[in-house]
Amino acid sequence: MNWYKKDQHFLIDEQVLERIIEYGNLTKTDIVLEIGAGYGNLTAKLTKRAGMVIAIEVDPELAPSIKKVENLEVITGDALKEEFPPFNKVISNLPYSISSPVTFKLLKHGFELGILMYQHEFARRLVASPGNKDYGRLSIAVQYHARVDILEVVSRHAFSTPPQVDSAIVRVVPRPPPYNVRDVNFFMKFITAAFSQRRKKLKNAILNNAAMLGIKESALENLPKNIIEQRAETISAEELAGLCDLLRKDNNS
Ligand code: SAM
Repeated sequence: MNWYKKDQHFLIDEQVLERIIEYGNLTKTDIVLEIGAGYGNLTAKLTKRAGMVIAIEVDPELAPSIKKVENLEVITGDALKEEFPPFNKVISNLPYSISSPVTFKLLKHGFELGILMYQHEFARRLVASPGNKDYGRLSIAVQYHARVDILEVVSRHAFSTPPQVDSAIVRVVPRPPPYNVRDVNFFMKFITAAFSQRRKKLKNAILNNAAMLGIKESALENLPKNIIEQRAETISAEELAGLCDLLRKDNNS
């Protein structure tokens, strides 16, 4: 079986399909990207409301089955490899196995509005806040670039073949970062380290990853003790960014 077949859970609930279209708030000026178009059930509805739809589908058996209309371009290929064309909205029932890389690829590209179906558990991690068990690297990295909310949870029975778990429709609205951090790449490494040992105090998670972060253990001495004695999952992204800047500064001095 080809690797992409395992992602083939087709959305057959007409009401959910209609609501996805409604959430997209489409007009004839919109250029919509759809990733993983399958046989085109959502695609057909998108083409009725948007000015232009570009659908990417990796399965060479499915892509030709998508009904051709004037305002549709179908790209047969892997969404992680194809260069994205310009678009302002992305509306997709995503292939779950590429949820994370495709989300970051989209955020890097930039857009106005995303209406994206993910596995429910992944969606909870996307939107989680400090103190929540789902809060972690993914929440911080995505929320740095965009506002994200779960619009609705979708039962597995809305799909043919039903996946093992429920799904959720997430609205993604890119916006400028809500706080500053001096070195974003270092920040991403820092949050990877901070959440690598969720049950440990942040201090220990940083110490155990000092080599990966390229910092000296002594750099921790100037971090506020009341914060680094806590676990990362209780600390806000902004506070983590502040610690990250202090570490970077101490390391460079
Ligand atoms: N849009 C359809 C729907 O809503 O019913 C199908 C959604 S299904 C969850 C995901 C689709 O993504 C499948 O048709 C699968 O072949 C396709 N797919 C899987 N990996 C892909 C990739 N890397 N690039 C593009 N399409 C992919």
